[in-house]
Amino acid sequence: MPDGFHMTPDEFRRHGQEVVEWVAEYMERVGELPIASTVLPGDIRARLPEAAPEEPEPFAALLRDLDDVVLPGITHWQAPGWFAYFPANASGPSILAELVAAGLGAQGMLWATSPALTEIEAHVLDWLVDLLGLPPHFKTALGPGGGVIQMSASDSTHLVHVVARDRAVRGGASIADLVAYGSVQAHSSVERGARVAGFSHVRSVDVDGVYALRADALSEAIERDRAAGLVPTIVTSAVGTTGTGAVDPVAEVADVALEHGLWHHVDAAWAGSAMLCEEQRHHQAGAERADSYTFNPHKWLFTNFDCNVLWVADRAPLIATLSSLPPYLRNAASESSEVIDYRDWHVPLGRRFRALKLWWVLRSYGATGLRHHLREHIALAAELGRRVDEHPRLERVAPVSFALVCLRHVDGDDATDALAAAINARPDLCVTPSAIGDMRFVRVAVGQTHTTAVDVKRLWEAITGAA
Ligand SMILES: *Cc1c(COP(=O)(O)O)cnc(C)c1O
Repeated sequence: MPDGFHMTPDEFRRHGQEVVEWVAEYMERVGELPIASTVLPGDIRARLPEAAPEEPEPFAALLRDLDDVVLPGITHWQAPGWFAYFPANASGPSILAELVAAGLGAQGMLWATSPALTEIEAHVLDWLVDLLGLPPHFKTALGPGGGVIQMSASDSTHLVHVVARDRAVRGGASIADLVAYGSVQAHSSVERGARVAGFSHVRSVDVDGVYALRADALSEAIERDRAAGLVPTIVTSAVGTTGTGAVDPVAEVADVALEHGLWHHVDAAWAGSAMLCEEQRHHQAGAERADSYTFNPHKWLFTNFDCNVLWVADRAPLIATLSSLPPYLRNAASESSEVIDYRDWHVPLGRRFRALKLWWVLRSYGATGLRHHLREHIALAAELGRRVDEHPRLERVAPVSFALVCLRHVDGDDATDALAAAINARPDLCVTPSAIGDMRFVRVAVGQTHTTAVDVKRLWEAITGAA
């Protein structure tokens, strides 16, 4: 054993081929596996030995347990019949880039600790500014803004609440007086991010008939808080809510935010991917006046979890809040201010090479390939929505939004729950039963990497068979 207990490069080569083969086979058979895991709590742990192995195990045993221990406890988000939650798409180039990033094992906390990590990330996020039709001042190369990859949209939303809080406190406000706003349909990460950032006042603003934030209600809430001596600090508008895909009036929110001096954050976690398609961009009109914008390539853009993008219109307040300089991180490049040190752009110090998978996805599909698949998903959802409208026992609860269809049974909540249960009883389909207030509905998110018309047809047959 030339290298102690370590796997040698030659063993790695052999086992690596076995692992790639295993994943390729998984891709081929994932459509035939029952989508939802049916294990009970504790079932997977019961298959694991009481104590960690004292002696080395052969790699074949590790691989075998992928099938015997892991797969029974996997819910197959990569199945083409996946219509639940939002997608969490993987793809070939993304998976391979993850392997390379792990192989390099580089840590990009500073520009100097691996310049390629920082420069590729900054550059690819600048590409994405153009691909999503966002304003050029979001680009790191032009500034004063810039983009950074984070773990999740929840992290980004929390972070901008921290930055907005800090800006207000530096301006002389008392932290106890700060107020954060989002709509009643905002993602739970908005309320949670605000609370964790120290806001004691979080307002859930009313929505209109299609569940979009009412800018007039926002104005009223801000004025009421002002009159009470509080300090309105930040508002989040959603482009594509999680509940029904509602699109808040971003331009009107931008007007209100500018009038009252609030930080304006745009949460396009899921629908941001659709902005690659020019015909969708009117939904985010006004985002060019926002202070920050976040979206998740790890949902709909074929880049496996985790990969979230945050852009800020001005990076100065972000860095002012987050930078610190212990002596062991000092280096000539940082002090020259010619480089970005991404550790100053989020809470973690260390960071891995997440930009590689995004870079490979953008190059491997090309913008043309990405648009092709996004448009196909959007068209499939539109077609499903039309069928729902024509069906005597079904109705939509909200407009079809991007690739999300929300429907219910005309007979009410029990019939709607029964419909969702009947669909999910099938091994090859998965949808999410949901509710607004006490109105039940079925959420169908089209957009899994491998979903095609065949899968939507199968879903439609299951819906009509049960309705
Ligand atoms: C999914 C989603 C989030 C949360 O995303 P994470 O990356 O899982 O934190 C936030 N906002 C909206 C609108 C979402 O759809």
